[in-house]
Amino acid sequence: MHALWPNIVKWSAVLHPARGRLQRTSAQRSIGHDVTGIAQTYLTIMGSDASLIKPFLHAHPDAVLQVLELWLHFPRYLPAAALETCGCAYAIGVTALAMYDVLVYPANRPTPQDRALFVNQLCIAVGSKKTLYRAAVEQTDFLTTLRIPPLRPMAWDNHFGFIGFVVDVPELEGQNIPGKLIRSVVSAARHCLNSRETQYSAALGLKLLATLCMKAKDNRPLVHAFKAGVFDLLRDAESARLDFDLSELVRLLCAGLLQIKVIRAFHRRHPGEIAVSHLGTQELTRQVFTWTDVAHTWNSSRQRYLGSHRRREWRQTDHCANAQGPHNRLVRVCPCASIFYCSGSCQRLHWAAVHWESCMATQGAWAMRGAISLADAMFVQDLVRSYIADRHATIAAQISAQMSRKRGLLADATNLSIHVDFSDAVLTPRHEIRVRYPYGINLPLGLKYPIPGIVLVEVSLRLGTTLRECYVPLAFHVKDFVG
Ligand SMILES: [Zn+2]
Ligand SMILES: [Zn+2]
Repeated sequence: MHALWPNIVKWSAVLHPARGRLQRTSAQRSIGHDVTGIAQTYLTIMGSDASLIKPFLHAHPDAVLQVLELWLHFPRYLPAAALETCGCAYAIGVTALAMYDVLVYPANRPTPQDRALFVNQLCIAVGSKKTLYRAAVEQTDFLTTLRIPPLRPMAWDNHFGFIGFVVDVPELEGQNIPGKLIRSVVSAARHCLNSRETQYSAALGLKLLATLCMKAKDNRPLVHAFKAGVFDLLRDAESARLDFDLSELVRLLCAGLLQIKVIRAFHRRHPGEIAVSHLGTQELTRQVFTWTDVAHTWNSSRQRYLGSHRRREWRQTDHCANAQGPHNRLVRVCPCASIFYCSGSCQRLHWAAVHWESCMATQGAWAMRGAISLADAMFVQDLVRSYIADRHATIAAQISAQMSRKRGLLADATNLSIHVDFSDAVLTPRHEIRVRYPYGINLPLGLKYPIPGIVLVEVSLRLGTTLRECYVPLAFHVKDFVG
């Protein structure tokens, strides 16, 4: 049997050239037949003794390529209505996953050569993440259409699992996660949840969703996910009692709910407050987070969003940076989101004289290269402002303790700063008082160096997997807290 393997590779290369597209001249039905044959054969090979498979794959890299190529394009080769399609899709998925398992999966202790074999063939077959994402959409939508017989749960698990693995391969050129992919994963997970047999696979779909959202540098995938109904899905998945920890996704969703574009997407689907039972204080020590945390975060974000933010109260409370008056009552914010002006003339005067040096407007709000918008920045500023107002007494005590401890040291070269951590939105935000030596261009309100007696404000935000720290255009005087 093992002697036959190399011939199998040659034979399937004739039927299905790995480096070219399958001949589309013959009827679709017979292509489906050929592909099923090839897939079943490779499945048999991968089912053999692991010690024999590795040398075989190294001797025949085309085998890896063929399987990946089949995996990538199977919806094009298989007729959706044929009875054998489900079995074939399953065989292709299992084979691809088995190859990944043998060559890349860390627990199986692959050598660097093993990994290189898989990754090289993947790069040849796929080329870029863009193709990969497009194929993943095509596959997911195709698998959802298979009804007679419905796809086995294992096939769904393999599908979600394998996509999760390959999007993590860093050698593929990166690209933004397309909204289409997020939508089709959400609807596939919904499809799985609707049938008792595949319910558990829905949780793996949600896990894949978390992986995809983590890949992004901003929270755009979360917008697509909320638009596609991920919150309802999460709630239904948990009422189905799947016994699957979805905390990772919950944390991402909650962190997103501090941003206006995510809030708006959520608000469109769930305009009202979400009724959810009260969480006790002991809950803060728990490790597992659920949809109720998303609901809580939403309820408090919603309140703030509809309240002070919609009324744009910052326009009345923030001050024009230009020293000379007269000023208009309302201010607007510079596109760098770190300084305010009451009018075009104040902006022109001050910008040309002072702010041009530190204005980072070309890099987006707070120099985050578009990861957050101006509206997001003002919303965060709003959150921080009310956070500090709510804890004024505590912060005042901490500041005066800090001042007496560092007496003498808190000279001209330092500023105190209130650092508020919003990076884990599931939990109540925390803060600490830091001593800063603030020189540089990232300072808020056009500051360039420490000014005695000023208390700066910083935040930590979470965007996808990245944690970002930045100054908020808010500043207090020590006298606001002490004495
Ligand atoms: Zn002004
Ligand atoms: Zn600016």
